[in-house]
Amino acid sequence: MNTRNSRLFLPLLFLLLLLSAHAKGPEGGLHTRNILFVMTDGLRWQEVFHGADEALMVKENGIDDSEKAKFWQETPEARRELLMPFLWRTVAAQGQVFGNQDKGSVAVLTNGLNFSYPGYSETFCGFADPRINSNAKKPNPNVTVLEWLNGKSPYRGEVAAFGAWDVFPSILNRRRCGFLVNAGYEPMEGKRLSPTMALLNRLKQETIRYWGGEPFDSLTFETAFEYFKTEKPRILYLSLGETDEWAHGGRYDLYLESARNFDAAVKTLWETAQSMPRYRGKTTLILATDHGRGLAPDAWKGHGQDVQGSEAVWMAFMGPDTPALGERTQTEQVTQSQIASTLAAFLGEDYCAAVPQAGKPILDVVGR
Ligand SMILES: [Zn+2]
Repeated sequence: MNTRNSRLFLPLLFLLLLLSAHAKGPEGGLHTRNILFVMTDGLRWQEVFHGADEALMVKENGIDDSEKAKFWQETPEARRELLMPFLWRTVAAQGQVFGNQDKGSVAVLTNGLNFSYPGYSETFCGFADPRINSNAKKPNPNVTVLEWLNGKSPYRGEVAAFGAWDVFPSILNRRRCGFLVNAGYEPMEGKRLSPTMALLNRLKQETIRYWGGEPFDSLTFETAFEYFKTEKPRILYLSLGETDEWAHGGRYDLYLESARNFDAAVKTLWETAQSMPRYRGKTTLILATDHGRGLAPDAWKGHGQDVQGSEAVWMAFMGPDTPALGERTQTEQVTQSQIASTLAAFLGEDYCAAVPQAGKPILDVVGR
């Protein structure tokens, strides 16, 4: 190329680069480069939006009068903030929260079964598969959005999932999916474990196994948190389980405490991410649950096909691409099956093009 041509060529190249940066390319003009997706099992929308339920704060559910103050405020707004301060002071202030049925925002499952494996599978795959009809440890025949993303070059080796429940290796199909899945009491493996990770491995070994299928949430959270800080994956999934376990056990006090611990774990994760250049201003947070539960006075302990109200869930989003519309009211119904494509859409990826039966992205949250 002679000098005269190159004098023309360079400004032209610059212009082209400028244009392509503004075009809706694979990144869609969005700012999200990383996803933090945290779920807690079977936490009702009722507690998320109203805080503690007075009718359930009774001795037979594990709450003495002296303990009520820990969770009690007069108004639902003050009660929910006492229960989940990070969700209400930060996520609702900067993002969006769906599922308050009292205010015309309905979030539901579409699987009709209202228990865990179908709920997680619907969340990750974007549709309810009638073959997923038990909590048995059967490898998921369907590809999840996490596996789909991990199969694309920008995300390969950049996905990691941590689940308290030991069924996650099946739900995410660990044998096939190609990314790290750590669940239940499993130690983290590897030659270069940090001292903290080695300690967490020992604690999983040494701590009483109150439930066979999952440890206390702190062990799972700290394992995920340590991995997050040291390995810095672009897509981190974390699922906690105590909210469901204590509810099944009839311990409303510990169910509430677990909800509070979930909120605190999310805060720690988010604030740590914001202190890291790789994540600051480039990370979207998604929060959800896998199913609802029944109503007071007794059905709150359970959930399932025959438990009225347990199809109702909630979900929340916050990040650089989510308009700060706060607690949503009078919205179109959103479904669990929309989460997979919404997660992908934050990254500028069209999951529904690959999986047409998946629910469509919730555009209100991916729209700055
Ligand atoms: Zn569950």
